Amino acid sequence: MTLIKNKEFLFEDVTKLKGVGARLSKYLKSKKITKIRDLLLDFPYSYTDRTNLVQLDELEVGKILTVKVKVIKYSFPRIRNLPNKVICEDEKGKINIVFFNSREIYIKKILPLNSWVIISGKINYFKNNYQITNPNYIDKIQKINTIKKKIPKYNLTEGLTEKTYRKIIEQVLRDLPELNEWYGKNVLKKFKFETWKSSIINMHNVSIKKDIKSKYFRRLVLDEIISNLIILSKNRNIIKTQKIKKKFDNSSAHDFIANLNFNLTDDQKKVIREINEDLISDKRMFRILQGDVGSGKTIVSLITLANAIKAGFQTSLMAPTDILAKQHYELSKKIFKNSQIKISYLSGKSDPKERKNTLEKINSGETDLLIGTHALFQKKIKFKNLGYVVIDEQHKFGVRQRMDLAKKGGKNCDVLLMSAMPIPRTMILSLYGDMDVSKLIQKPKNRLPIQTYSKPEKKINELVDLIKSNIKNDNQIFWVCPLIKESKFLNYSSAIKRYDWLKNIFSEEVGIIHGSIKKEEKEKILNKFLNKKIKILVSTTVIEVGIDFPNANLIIIENANKFGLAQLHQLRGRVGRGSKQGVCVLLYKENLSENSIKRIKILKKTNDGFLIAEEDMKMRGFGDIIGFQQSGEKYFKLADPVRDEDLFVYAEKYLKNMENVDIDKFSFLLKLFDKAEIIN
Ligand code: ADP
Ligand code: MG
Repeated sequence: MTLIKNKEFLFEDVTKLKGVGARLSKYLKSKKITKIRDLLLDFPYSYTDRTNLVQLDELEVGKILTVKVKVIKYSFPRIRNLPNKVICEDEKGKINIVFFNSREIYIKKILPLNSWVIISGKINYFKNNYQITNPNYIDKIQKINTIKKKIPKYNLTEGLTEKTYRKIIEQVLRDLPELNEWYGKNVLKKFKFETWKSSIINMHNVSIKKDIKSKYFRRLVLDEIISNLIILSKNRNIIKTQKIKKKFDNSSAHDFIANLNFNLTDDQKKVIREINEDLISDKRMFRILQGDVGSGKTIVSLITLANAIKAGFQTSLMAPTDILAKQHYELSKKIFKNSQIKISYLSGKSDPKERKNTLEKINSGETDLLIGTHALFQKKIKFKNLGYVVIDEQHKFGVRQRMDLAKKGGKNCDVLLMSAMPIPRTMILSLYGDMDVSKLIQKPKNRLPIQTYSKPEKKINELVDLIKSNIKNDNQIFWVCPLIKESKFLNYSSAIKRYDWLKNIFSEEVGIIHGSIKKEEKEKILNKFLNKKIKILVSTTVIEVGIDFPNANLIIIENANKFGLAQLHQLRGRVGRGSKQGVCVLLYKENLSENSIKRIKILKKTNDGFLIAEEDMKMRGFGDIIGFQQSGEKYFKLADPVRDEDLFVYAEKYLKNMENVDIDKFSFLLKLFDKAEIIN
């Protein structure tokens, strides 16, 4: 099948390419390549050098080399499973060229007796002879100058050979269309950019030197950033549609606030005002509340949820884990106990009968507040009159999920995301440009900054006294063992080992939770911990997100260098949530890397989540940051907000300056980055 040389061919299925059938397309799919377009941004990471012809006394086993040789003899054994062989030589030696599954006629044609040929392939040594099996490349000597000198290497998956993949990508690059330029001349000039086509072709061309700083790469990075910003702003327009205004007075909220045993911080009051204004407006709310661990986001959400309920709407509060959802449920029951508010709880693990009952209550409108894990995304859940959804600890939502969420909620549904992941100011627009942003910067007044210490693991025994004195002072202790991704077993076993060790000293006062403990058991243990029956809780990172144990004031993090900076900060945020001093001890193995030492230093020095996030990004790059890494969805294919900060800043300005300019110019770009469908 031949390709139509039309730019729309970029969006055709890969099977439209010559040589790509069902089997190959399956392999490509595992590389997330389904459309022809998807091939373009996977650049070669290196190349095989065939510029140097070697003589037959310079061969090295295992290397891909190119030789110039004369064909001197055939050996066609005519026995099944035995390969055909061609013996070749040059002035310095002999080599066997071995073919499995090739016919004699073909071999005689490409390697005529007594002719000189160029052969390239991996060198083996077999029965005292050098050989090349199924060579990558054979050609007549006359063509010596047309032989590709450097052959690109791509990241391949199983089932894809280099040769096959190259054939595919070469077809595409050969027919690559020239697109109408979406940038003005000034942009191209400023960055010395070339056209889209030239940038792609050059990125695949391994015979020119280039890197992530090259103009070709940076043009494509800017393309991606711009497409992302455009989509966010379109997303915003779509979401911020008209809705029924929510009418409520603040009296019930005042009652709840009066019932709290603390005063709201000024920041909390300010954010509640911001949200209330959105609720009473005739435009849907689409807002993210950022606040460091322990800044008191939950109460903000509950007060505003109560307002929406007062206005006659159903509402929902979603959390990423069962434990956290359950805790929100318990807290809301407590806070709303003297009110008419009807609360339901639903998780993926609720029992079927109870579940059915709950679904009916949601459907009939009886439930005012539904708390659960993925409540909104379950098909069976139909609200009668949903008006407000809060999603807690949400770093996992990409643009696409946010769009889905807004659709699922319905036209009167206000949306609030809450996240403890502090995002540096410069990146907010690129990541959350479709949302309004509220921030809790102040911590509650009674909160003392967590003291952080570090200790080598060999002094672990010193911790026993520290734990003892904490228990004596009615404090509780978290002991966290690292999550080792590659091996779940190892992960649990390290926690279990520590548990056994502690149990020897503190007997019944120690409990353990980890990922493979059953839900009921886990809840039992957490409840025991909440009720102070257990004083020390050993765990893997399951305690990381959001859970509130106001009485836990000491956290020991074992093998601390296994965690990222932001993650360590989140973990230590589990303690010191009441009025007592929180203490964090980072245990480390000897021989820390320079980065680990730096991380520990930063944690000791500051409790400021935003600053820590910024340091984390600088040290690890954007892609590795907690949350984005967990989401599984890579936010950007090429761009990196840390590395390419200048382009991000430029893109924001560029789009702002052309607010009234017609975005249609960029529509093909949006399609290229697979963004167009999000908004359609
Ligand atoms: P996060 O922002 O991490 O979700 P939470 O909402 O879980 O924080 O609040 C952490 C703890 O702080 C809870 O025990 C909560 O009751 C308490 N808290 C919230 N606001 C205040 C405040 N203004 N003063 C004192 N304690 C507060
Ligand atoms: Mg929280």
